[in-house]
Amino acid sequence: MRISVIGCGYLGAVHATCMAELGHEVVGIDVDENKVAELAAARAPFFEPGLEALLKKVQTTGRLTFTTDMSAAKGSSVHFICVGTPQKKGENGADMSYVDAATRTLLPYLSADDIVVGKSTVPVGTAARLHEVVQSAEPSAELLWNPEFLREGHAVSDTLQPDRLVYGVLSGAEDHPAVHLLDQVYAAPLETGTPRLVMDLPTAELVKTAANSFLATKISFINAMAELCDAAGADVTLLADAIGMDSRIGRQFLNAGIGFGGGCLPKDIRAFMARAGELGADQALAFLREVDSINMRRRVRVVELTRELCGGSLLGQRITVLGAAFKPESDDVRDSPALSIAAQLQLQGAVVTVTDPEALANAARRFPDLNYVNSTDSALQRADAVLLLTEWQDYRDLDPYVTAALVSTPRILDGRNVLNSTKWRTAGWKYRGLGRP
Ligand code: NAD
Repeated sequence: MRISVIGCGYLGAVHATCMAELGHEVVGIDVDENKVAELAAARAPFFEPGLEALLKKVQTTGRLTFTTDMSAAKGSSVHFICVGTPQKKGENGADMSYVDAATRTLLPYLSADDIVVGKSTVPVGTAARLHEVVQSAEPSAELLWNPEFLREGHAVSDTLQPDRLVYGVLSGAEDHPAVHLLDQVYAAPLETGTPRLVMDLPTAELVKTAANSFLATKISFINAMAELCDAAGADVTLLADAIGMDSRIGRQFLNAGIGFGGGCLPKDIRAFMARAGELGADQALAFLREVDSINMRRRVRVVELTRELCGGSLLGQRITVLGAAFKPESDDVRDSPALSIAAQLQLQGAVVTVTDPEALANAARRFPDLNYVNSTDSALQRADAVLLLTEWQDYRDLDPYVTAALVSTPRILDGRNVLNSTKWRTAGWKYRGLGRP
C-alpha cells in the first residue's frame, strides 16, 4: 500500500520506518528540514534502539522516502497524522495547532476513498471535529483514530508487534470499508494474532489518555507509599514486591523513585484534566491533580535528601548526576525529572555535573547552564555526592569499589532504587534510596 506519515518525530519516524519494513511504500513528511535530511540519509535524528539499522535496511528497498513537501502525500491511500500535541504554554490543555495545521495542509492532496488516520494523543472530541474538516474537502474520505501505545526505548518492536490495535471509526462499525483498509496496513501484526478493537471515535481517543492516566496513577501510588515508608521506616521495594505478587495488582510500574516525566505522561494527564473540565466532568479526574502533585513532590524530595546526604548544605558541593534522559534507552529529555533535579540543585548552590550515554546534546539545548561530561568516569571524579537518576544499565552495573576510588566522598542517592544497598554500604558508601530505610 502507499502510505504517508505526517510528522516524523519519536512516533512518526519509527512508524514510517516500520510501515516500510512491513512492505508498504511510505513517504514520511515533516516541516523540520534537518530531521528530514537526517532521515533521508538513513540516520536516526534521535536515539531509539534498532531504528537506525532498520532505516538503513528499508531504505535500500526504495520503499521509504522523506520530504518536507506535503504534496508528496498525493497518491497515498492512507495518511497517518503523527505530529506533536505538547502542553500549551501557561495552560494545562494540549496545543492542537500542529495537528490542525498538518490536517489542513494535507486536505488539497486527498483523493477519493483515502483514509486519514490520527495517531497523536489528542483531547477527546478532536477526531469528530477533524472528521468534518476532512469530509468537507473530500466527502468520500474517512478519518479514523488509531492511538499509539509505543514505549520509547522499545518503539521499533512495539510498532512491529503491538500488544493491541485500537481503531476509532465515526460509526463504530467493524464492517466499514475504512476498517478494511487499515487492516491491510496492519496485515502482518494482525496475522500473528494481535488483537484489534474497533470502536467509536471518542472511545478510541479516551483509550489512550485513560491508559496513560492509569500508568501515571500506578507510579504515583507507589511513590506515595514511598513517602509513607520514609515516615515509618519501612522499605517500599519490598512492599512493591509483595503487593505486586497479587495478580490483580501486578509488579510493573510499581518502582518507587524520582517519578515520571517525558513527552507523554505529564502533559497527557494535564490535558486530560483540562478536557474533562471543558466537558463538565472535572470531578471525575480530580484525583489526577493529586497524581501530578505526588509526582512533582518527588523532585523536591530528592533535592532535600541530597542536601541531607551532603551534611545539611548544598553550597559548593560537587554533585554528579548519572542520567539526563527521562528514561533509559532514550535521548528524550522532555520534562525529564533527572534534569529538573540537576537544575534545581545548581540553583541552590551545588556544582552539578551531568552525564548520560545518549541524551547530553538534547539536555544541553534545554538546560545550557549545566555542566555536561561524556565519560562516566570523568563525571565521577572528585564528586562529593553521586545521584543515580536515570537507570541506564551502565549505571546499574557500576562497581562500588572502583567508583569509590574516583569520587571525593562516597555518598550515593539511588533515585531509582536499582542498586544493591548492602553491596554499596559494604564498599564504604553512604547510601540513600527512596522510601527505603
Ligand atoms: P515529536 O515532537 O518528537 O514529533 C512531532 C513531529 O511533528 C516533529 O518532527 C515536528 O517537526 C512535526 N510537525 C509539526 N507540525 C507539523 C506539520 N504541520 N506537518 C508535518 N510535520 C509536523 O513528538 P512525538 O513524541 O513523536 O509525539 C507525537 C504525538 O504522538 C504526540 O501526540 C504524542 O503524545 C504521541 N505519542 C508519542 C509517543 C512517544 O513515545 N513519543 C507514544 C505514543 C503517542
